[in-house]
Amino acid sequence: MPIDHKAAYDEQNIFAKILRGEIPNKTVLETDHSLAFHDINPLAPIHVLVIPKGRYVSMEDFSANASDAEIADLVRTIGKVAAETGADAQGYRILANTGKRAGQEVPHLHVHVFGGQPLGPMLSR
Ligand code: 5GP
Repeated sequence: MPIDHKAAYDEQNIFAKILRGEIPNKTVLETDHSLAFHDINPLAPIHVLVIPKGRYVSMEDFSANASDAEIADLVRTIGKVAAETGADAQGYRILANTGKRAGQEVPHLHVHVFGGQPLGPMLSR
C-alpha cells in the first residue's frame, strides 16, 4: 500500500528494521550517514537502494529537515554506488517515489539507482 509521506516516522518500517540489523540486507556500501543495499525485487540488472540512516519519511522530509552533512553524504553515496556497481559506465537513473501518488511503499526515504540495461522513457503515458 502506498504511504502518506506526511505521516510521522514509523519505527517499524522495513528499512528501519534493516538499519537496526533486525533484517538482513545485501550491502553495497555504508557511510556515517547512509546505507546502500540491493533491492530485494530488482527491476533492472543493477537496482540499489540508497537510504539515509536518519529517521526521514520521504524526500520532502529529508530535504527540509536533514543536516547539510546528511544530504551531502546521501548524494555522494549515490555517486559512489553508480561508480562501484558499474552503472555509470553506460548511464543510469535515480528515482525517489514520494507519497501515495508516486507509489512510495516504504515510509523511509530511499533513492533507487537503476542501471545495467537501457532504461527506456522516463514515464509511460
Ligand atoms: P518504493 O515503491 O517505496 O519506491 O520502493 C520500495 C522498494 O523496496 C521496492 O523496490 C521493494 O522491492 C524494496 N523492498 C521492500 N522490502 C525490502 C526488503 O526487505 N529488502 C530490500 N532489500 N528491499 C526491499
